[in-house]
Amino acid sequence: MSTRVFALFLILPALLLAPPVLAQKQSLDVVRKVVIDPGHGGDNKGALAYNGVYEKDIVLQIATKARKEIQSRTDSDVLLTREDDRSVGLKDRVTMANEAGADLLISIHCNSSFSLTPQGVETYVLSEQALKEESGKLSRQVVQPRGLYASAADSSAAAVVKEMLQYSAFRDAHTLASVLQGAVVRRTKAMDRGVKELPIVVLRGAEMPGIVVEVGFASHPLEAEQLTKDWYQERIAQAIADAVIRYDQIAAQARSGVRTPVSKSN
Ligand SMILES: [Zn+2]
Repeated sequence: MSTRVFALFLILPALLLAPPVLAQKQSLDVVRKVVIDPGHGGDNKGALAYNGVYEKDIVLQIATKARKEIQSRTDSDVLLTREDDRSVGLKDRVTMANEAGADLLISIHCNSSFSLTPQGVETYVLSEQALKEESGKLSRQVVQPRGLYASAADSSAAAVVKEMLQYSAFRDAHTLASVLQGAVVRRTKAMDRGVKELPIVVLRGAEMPGIVVEVGFASHPLEAEQLTKDWYQERIAQAIADAVIRYDQIAAQARSGVRTPVSKSN
């Protein structure tokens, strides 16, 4: 037996005993870039939780965990609208998502009430009225034919493209909202307050499906305690990743012409 063959006999068992290759990241077809927006920041502290922690800190921790979770499970890019405790304007957050060419915008907030009893998770999409107002504004704006509208011949054609993008984003936002609401409730076992429509500023003008998820009530003693705990934040982060993956499947199927109903189990 030559030394080379002998060496192979030594190496082979070692190769067979080698630890299994880590699970491969899921390759997403539609969702190539996600912008996660931790609400508030800097002087804008958000709600003061029952246990004395500010909303701005809770949502930044959850957003950071969600980015890690999405990046470890998928090949999608994730950007945060703020990486640290700084103030960012609401319009700047949407602009950031639009300019990044994001496929989804997920804004994370905590709810709050004067009463200690309200609890649970709810997800918001832009109201239809607000969407119409945004469309109305487009007719009075000069939309530069660049970026996503680069193919438009002039600024009025670019405005039409922008309006179409906002309408299709609005429709898909409902799918994202219902998938995400279901995922967060399933992972956290929190009360399901459902999906609602509001004229939310941070979603106005978004050219991709955008939602605001209120991950719990900072004013509720138990939820406030949970929201500041690593293990609970981790569950919310996992739910956000679950939702991104599920949304991608639904969107990819819709593109290929296969219709999948969005049920609570998604
Ligand atoms: Zn908030």
